[in-house]
Amino acid sequence: MIYLDNAATTKVFDSAVRAAETAMLTDYFNPNATYKSAVAVNNSIENSRSIIANAVGADKEELVFTSGATESNNWVFYCGIKNHKGNIVISAGEHSSVYEVAMQLKNRGKDVRIAPLLPCGTVNEDALMSLVDENTALVSVIHVSNETGVINPIKNIATAVRQKAPKALIHSDGVQSIIKLGMPISGLGVDYYSASAHKVGAPKGIGFLYIRRGLNVSPFIVGGGQERGLRSGTQNTPYIGAFAEAVSRCEKYDRSRIIALRKELCDYFTCNGFKVIGENNNSGFILCLCVPNIKAEILQNIVHDKGVIIGKGAACSGSKRGNRVLSAMGLKPEEIERCIRLSFFVDTSRDDAFAAAKIITDACQKR
Ligand code: PMP
Repeated sequence: MIYLDNAATTKVFDSAVRAAETAMLTDYFNPNATYKSAVAVNNSIENSRSIIANAVGADKEELVFTSGATESNNWVFYCGIKNHKGNIVISAGEHSSVYEVAMQLKNRGKDVRIAPLLPCGTVNEDALMSLVDENTALVSVIHVSNETGVINPIKNIATAVRQKAPKALIHSDGVQSIIKLGMPISGLGVDYYSASAHKVGAPKGIGFLYIRRGLNVSPFIVGGGQERGLRSGTQNTPYIGAFAEAVSRCEKYDRSRIIALRKELCDYFTCNGFKVIGENNNSGFILCLCVPNIKAEILQNIVHDKGVIIGKGAACSGSKRGNRVLSAMGLKPEEIERCIRLSFFVDTSRDDAFAAAKIITDACQKR
């Protein structure tokens, strides 16, 4: 089987499974208990936090473990905004775990403004800045699009927002960028940054919210006061250990190889009549293609029967029809129906990628 839907989720590294297994079968003590074995588990959480913080370019005190980016994003919107009367500005390219929360706040009367995308897939920065004003409480722009892999210039956006709206908080959804872009969070100038571990070879159900040092944020989930009172609930020690192990494994791979592989695939598919969506300024880990002659869902099933797994838009958009993000880039519904998403991980081989590409192009040509 050739798996090219890594933007939806990745296979867990064997060593990350083993780390989780040890935490479940041997080091299973509650990290908040006071006896020595439990303290050791607590120390191992802190060790994992340091490893992850190092890998993503943050201080360990700035990372709070959550159940994943959906929780982290909800936290920012529901409890992370200080100026409750201010407006919120998001981009039209947000994942549903940001977009739907913003829509819920809008339905409750909040002034939510949506900045359009450019046809290349990045947010229209001029339009975004025209929506930001001195009453803006929060600006949230996804770092790497989960649909196209296109990178938004978060650092520039953060600088411009801070000049125009010094009180605004800045959030970015970093799910598709951590580890893959190799950009330290601390250099982006954001206040909040969300991540999920299952996109980098760790299990589903663990992630973090980066909270810039010095920011006074209210907890979203309250209870036993774990995670320095910021996120209650007994920590998911097996998955935290697996997350740390996975990021360490990723460090051993050469990410530039994937960027070069995507470039080669872009040329191959273009020559075969496919249109690349979001070709430039891309993380390299996602290749969105508008295919000739055939609907994405049909193609997905044909190649699945030949052992190739590809995506068709974000899995999280579930059964919802259409694609909000691709349509914000100006694609017509009949093009969106023909869009597939190939997504790679650090260990995707060139042979597999090209074998899959051949199966995909053959399936389209036979129509
Ligand atoms: N943001 C982005 C960009 C994503 O790709 C995803 C996962 N598809 C999420 C947020 C939500 O992550 P999770 O489902 O792990 O909470």
